[in-house]
Amino acid sequence: MLIAIFMMLLALLLPGCIDRAPAVQGNASTLEWLGWSHFRITSGQDKVILINPFIAGNPDSIVKLEDITRADVILVADGHEDEGSSDAIPLAQKTGAKLIGGGFELGSWFIEQGVPASQVIRTNPGGIHRFDGITVRIVNSVHGSGLPEPTANNTYGGPAAGFIITLEDGYTVYFAGSTAATMDMQLWGSAFKPDLAILPLNNNRDPVDVAQMVKLLRTDNQNLNKIIPHHNRVQPPAGATTIDEMEQAINDMVGKGTVTVMRIERGKAIQLTK
Ligand SMILES: [Zn+2]
Repeated sequence: MLIAIFMMLLALLLPGCIDRAPAVQGNASTLEWLGWSHFRITSGQDKVILINPFIAGNPDSIVKLEDITRADVILVADGHEDEGSSDAIPLAQKTGAKLIGGGFELGSWFIEQGVPASQVIRTNPGGIHRFDGITVRIVNSVHGSGLPEPTANNTYGGPAAGFIITLEDGYTVYFAGSTAATMDMQLWGSAFKPDLAILPLNNNRDPVDVAQMVKLLRTDNQNLNKIIPHHNRVQPPAGATTIDEMEQAINDMVGKGTVTVMRIERGKAIQLTK
């Protein structure tokens, strides 16, 4: 009892020393591109979301595994190594973050690989998950989900996914993973009205495929005015589809000036504001 009273007095006298100071209300969330398809969102309320944390074998990663010390939620779009399926394991183990894989089976594989089951959220497209003021919706992806090290129990990652992330202030990011364009995007545009879409631009991607995504995501959705490519090298190899080609195709399909194709520098935080 005396100890409890002492602790209460201490808490009153030293408020900043007992708990982490609360984040200032109304702060904008930020987004950093860390290379290939790895992004980090730091929300206005100071929650850290890692998306596709492909680090160890990623020649364009500007962080090392040991540089990442904090995460609340880790999202992995599918089982492929370059979407961060392997590196998500030690990161989840050391940060204690909740870990969501695109498919239920990818979650089972994470548990088998040693991530505590209490941290793994096994889910599928259609799932919705809330983390304080943040909502993560799982949507499907027209893509595969082979595992880096399949096991007898877990031979495949299940369905590949994309994520619709709504932050505390309502700002909504659609991370497409590696999907092809699909008519479902019309539904997500209309229903969830993303403000920003992070869309795949791998070497042999038809730029028109990405432009179609933008058109579909703008269905009943004037909010979508920024696009960020991912899954592209900093120095694209000869013959790879370029951001300029992607931008041209988008302009041709939805009209120049409708959306901005952002070319963000790795590691430089941008504010997520409407
Ligand atoms: Zn993939």
